[in-house]
Amino acid sequence: MEICQQILEQIKKYDTIIIHRHMRADPDALGSQVGLKELLQYNFPEKKIKVVGYDLPTLTWLATMDQVEDDEFEGSLAIVCDTANTARIDDKRYLKAETIIKIDHHPNDDVYGDLSWVDTSSSSASEMIALFAEKNQLTLSDHAAELLFAGIVGDTGRFLYPSTSARTLRIASSLREYNFDFASLTRKMDTISYKIAKLQGYVYDYLEVDENGAARVLLTQEILKRYKVTDAETAAIVGAPGRIDTVKAWAIFVEQADGHFRVRMRSKITPINEIAKEHDGGGHPLASGANSYSLEENEIIYQKLKNLFKN
Ligand code: AMP
Repeated sequence: MEICQQILEQIKKYDTIIIHRHMRADPDALGSQVGLKELLQYNFPEKKIKVVGYDLPTLTWLATMDQVEDDEFEGSLAIVCDTANTARIDDKRYLKAETIIKIDHHPNDDVYGDLSWVDTSSSSASEMIALFAEKNQLTLSDHAAELLFAGIVGDTGRFLYPSTSARTLRIASSLREYNFDFASLTRKMDTISYKIAKLQGYVYDYLEVDENGAARVLLTQEILKRYKVTDAETAAIVGAPGRIDTVKAWAIFVEQADGHFRVRMRSKITPINEIAKEHDGGGHPLASGANSYSLEENEIIYQKLKNLFKN
């Protein structure tokens, strides 16, 4: 049986379905998670379907989570969207569920779940959920379509990244047919606050770019405080260096309250996820995250990035 059908068979078996996604949510994590909830609730109104995880203040405009008590996990089905590894699953109570399903588009470095659908050719987990609906001939609600559209826009950088396939555009086009406020959604996703605009100015000012296009910038706790931005809000400036013509790949080192550095890495063409894996991280070939525990380790990571582009 085809995987989408197998997943639907499992869904049909359970009265309670709890949907998870990764920590530090982004629009695709939320879009796929809550889009799937809306899809299932619309088609199976008798089932109890909930979403769990931390409500990231910067994204509550898009979706918010449900309250889920511990005992609700007993005998339930847990579906985890957009999460490559178990360590990053938001809300570890998925382990109490009777059956676990993984739906993801990251490289399958950590195989988990009783059933797993991993498609690295998909731009986003949201694209996969839309495909799941299509293959099983399930009806999308307008709100589900809006959430899935937001997820696709988020993970493709508004159809900019190479992961944007003909299928992505076809699915986005079919989602656009639904009745939601397209202009308001896309405008909202493109909007930044004044302080983020200022931080972006700092990033452009202090970005170091070597002769081969490897770039880096360090955002210390002092800088985050000066611009009054949280670590989560730096998501809005991660793509900024990529707009510069000479930049091929870049690393943004964000100092955390405990002194270690979250490293947000991006590349236009050359994969950088192997570097991320060597430094307590992982992710997509062109969009990865790592952790560094000293300024020396920051240097090593940048050196590895530079080495990728020598010759
Ligand atoms: P970010 O810079 O946090 O937006 O992360 C970019 C991509 O890298 C995301 O798709 C994440 O899935 C992945 N990623 C970020 N941090 C980690 C980590 N510590 N371990 C594994 N993957 C990560």
